[in-house]
Amino acid sequence: MNRRMSKPIQFGKVTVGGDAPIVVQSMTKTDTRDVRSTIDQIKELEDCGCELVRMAVPDREAAQAIPAIKRGVSTPIIADIHFDYRLALMALEAGADGLRLNPGNISQPERVTKIVQAAKERGVPIRIGVNAGSLPKPKNPKLGIAEQMVEAALNQIRLLESLDFDLIKVSLKAFDVPTTIDAYQSIAQKTPYPLHIGVTEAGPPRTGIIRSVVGISTLLYQGIGDTIRVSLTAHPREEVIAGYEILKSLNLRQHGPILVSCPSCGRTEVDIIKLAEAVERELLKITKPLKVAVMGCVVNGPGEARDADIGIACGKGRAVLFKKGKKLRTIQEKDFVVALMGEVEEM
Ligand code: SF4
Repeated sequence: MNRRMSKPIQFGKVTVGGDAPIVVQSMTKTDTRDVRSTIDQIKELEDCGCELVRMAVPDREAAQAIPAIKRGVSTPIIADIHFDYRLALMALEAGADGLRLNPGNISQPERVTKIVQAAKERGVPIRIGVNAGSLPKPKNPKLGIAEQMVEAALNQIRLLESLDFDLIKVSLKAFDVPTTIDAYQSIAQKTPYPLHIGVTEAGPPRTGIIRSVVGISTLLYQGIGDTIRVSLTAHPREEVIAGYEILKSLNLRQHGPILVSCPSCGRTEVDIIKLAEAVERELLKITKPLKVAVMGCVVNGPGEARDADIGIACGKGRAVLFKKGKKLRTIQEKDFVVALMGEVEEM
């Protein structure tokens, strides 16, 4: 796939756009004013590889919490601002590494100008975060939702450019996946700025991950997208894990192990579902990109297990353990997870 070349921008130590790796980000779900809980959640996100964290800044107290939160974490922090431009100014003053503004609720040029001047002084990028649920009134009411989203973003982009500001990132999120894809495909051709892609309000993990994968991976496969957020009604850790799985599936990033596990069938003589879930949980602690296989029988088992860095092919009460294509030993069912993880950790 040919990646769309965008203008790189910098959020603290993290580059978004250009040929930088596609960045995985998430958003805290704690009350930002609760500094301790917010730091704890950001640290959990850092532990699973999250590279940028956004926080809601709904009031002055939340903006005032930014310096203390930043002192407790190492990830760049993006302040999510709606309605009140003064909160954006406070967040910049407090050291936010990025801002997200919604043109649907902060669009008055004089207010945007004040924010842009303050961001420019500090070299802090602004995401123009358009959401289908909070669009500004369109000039042309005949436009479809995707076109209205693009128009809203372009209007805000022009305003920022007129102020000689180009540290811009753009997102155009809708719940409807085809609308989201249409909007991003359109804006990708009209601006040089990096794109933050995602499907908004996608739902709980079971359905939200599917909706997000369909939207995000369709765009990524067309070379569109510089940073992703999988929006889920779940702990944000799940968003980060899902984000990396999308990137790994498209061979765009390596992050932690890939688990190959067979779906199991009538041939299986061990509880492969339980075993794969246990191994998946253990693998979350591993950061090295390894291929680990958990296979249910002798049909595809030895082949897949041999092809992996570490693998087991199960039979009745026993399994053959493979490492780098070589048969290591036979292990008993009670030792499956411990033996497999022992070899993984050794690697
Ligand atoms: S590897 Fe064996 S147990 Fe697993 S799905 Fe294939 S045939 Fe069934």
